[in-house]
Amino acid sequence: MGKVLIIGAGGVGTVVAHKVAQNPDVFTEIMIASRTKSKCDAVAKAIGNPNIKTARVDADSVDELVALFNSFKPEIVINVALPYQDLTIMEACLKSGVNYLDTANYEPKDVAHFEYSWQWAYKKRFEDAGLTAILGCGFDPGVSGIYTAYAAKHHFDEIQYLDIVDCNAGNHHKAFATNFNPEINIREITQNGRYYENGEWVTTRPLEIHKALTYPNIGPRDSYLLYHEELESLVKNFPTIKRARFWMTFGQEYLTHLRVIQNIGMARIDEVEYNGMKIVPLQFLKAVLPNPQDLGENYEGETSIGCRIRGLKDGKEHTYYIYNNCSHQEAYKETGMQGVSYTTGVPAMIGAMMFLKGLWKKPGVWNVEEFDPDPFMEQLNKQGLPWHEVVDGDLEI
Ligand code: NDP
Repeated sequence: MGKVLIIGAGGVGTVVAHKVAQNPDVFTEIMIASRTKSKCDAVAKAIGNPNIKTARVDADSVDELVALFNSFKPEIVINVALPYQDLTIMEACLKSGVNYLDTANYEPKDVAHFEYSWQWAYKKRFEDAGLTAILGCGFDPGVSGIYTAYAAKHHFDEIQYLDIVDCNAGNHHKAFATNFNPEINIREITQNGRYYENGEWVTTRPLEIHKALTYPNIGPRDSYLLYHEELESLVKNFPTIKRARFWMTFGQEYLTHLRVIQNIGMARIDEVEYNGMKIVPLQFLKAVLPNPQDLGENYEGETSIGCRIRGLKDGKEHTYYIYNNCSHQEAYKETGMQGVSYTTGVPAMIGAMMFLKGLWKKPGVWNVEEFDPDPFMEQLNKQGLPWHEVVDGDLEI
């Protein structure tokens, strides 16, 4: 049915490649390209499909991307490199007539700030070119928005309160490690918190607000209010929302390490002089921390991510909780990667599948909640991320 190019051969890219290869009726030709070709070759070898092509590309260079796109001629590119590359890859897509999908919104390298405005600005150009760009199609952002769209379609006339809850109750047996790219992860967590209430954004100090929330099959875990990018698009696309918040669990050990990293200046993203050369402390830290791709083997426990929603149906107040639990070990057995990479890579593959099947094909730049959630929800159950619902239960928040 279609030719797909995966950019990035990290934890998420590895899962995307496995899942794409498991669906040969949809993805008829596959290429993995990244900064380090040997990593792409290793992924292709682990999958064991000799037809998977690999290539080296610097995704910061529009020219290199255009040359690659013009030689392989993919119908869609799945961008699972880093958020810094979103705009160069979108530019190259426009120049070569390729459709686009990613899992994280653009961030400039020198400011830890993420918002959709940079990518939304491409809407008219994608529309005019007749190309589709699907933004934020991982788990959160991604499935969190699709769950919300599904709730709006089937359970509510008006969504009023939305809490996205993300728990990782796994144990990787390392003193400190991040579950996805450490640089991106630490930039996200050390920022101010932010949530939406009555038409305004309320800013909090980093990790200032927290409470214990109870996760299915896991129990209570301290959960911290963070700013997360899907809040921006969800309050725009569901204007009845009065309050939208995002919560993530962290253990005390993790937070202590994070505090030390910040206090000693290792979370800095500006350049410092070291032995006559310039280094960025957070990038150096990434080089010495455990590689998120190596955590899978000893990872126990599971993740639980979902949406807790309150709103109106036929004039009556209702609650709705929809979630998935994902076992790190099961994810590892299937793809060699832990649950956080798995929960991101599976939805990215399904998004590309939706596009190639013509179900999510509309010229422009879109967030996932702007498409029909039903065929995507059906695939989540088939592709390894089944979902569960609690109707009119206690949401706790
Ligand atoms: P990794 O760091 O493991 O992998 C990133 C990959 O991108 C590496 O293979 C890296 O190459 C490659 N890369 C980096 N820069 C370039 C470049 N200039 N040109 C070509 N390739 C490049 O990250 P993850 O796999 O953990 O995360 C991938 C993406 O997924 C990130 O954007 C992250 O924010 C997002 N994500 C989204 C989630 C969601 O739920 N929506 C959750 C988790 C992650 P090299 O190996 O040479 O360094």
